[in-house]
Amino acid sequence: MLSIAESKPKKPMLLLDTFRYTQDKIVNTTVYWKCEDRSCPGRAIQYGSDPPSMKKLHNHSGDENKRKVEEFKMNLKQRIESPQSIKNL
Ligand SMILES: [Zn+2]
Repeated sequence: MLSIAESKPKKPMLLLDTFRYTQDKIVNTTVYWKCEDRSCPGRAIQYGSDPPSMKKLHNHSGDENKRKVEEFKMNLKQRIESPQSIKNL
């Protein structure tokens, strides 16, 4: 899974596997990406038009968790909206 999205007026963002990166610097044709989490040492590097690859490991798990949380919230919402949860008084 790989996609690059321009985020409004800010620097480009990179989504690689489940991690999001912001563009760090470009040296010649090499693009350096750093984790969007500033406290994380995770880095990715991209040579020219080659696909980027992770260079340094992250100290956290990727968007997978965020997605699970969203799924959980959706399940919760559905449960609340479902008629079974309404008690007959
Ligand atoms: Zn990270």
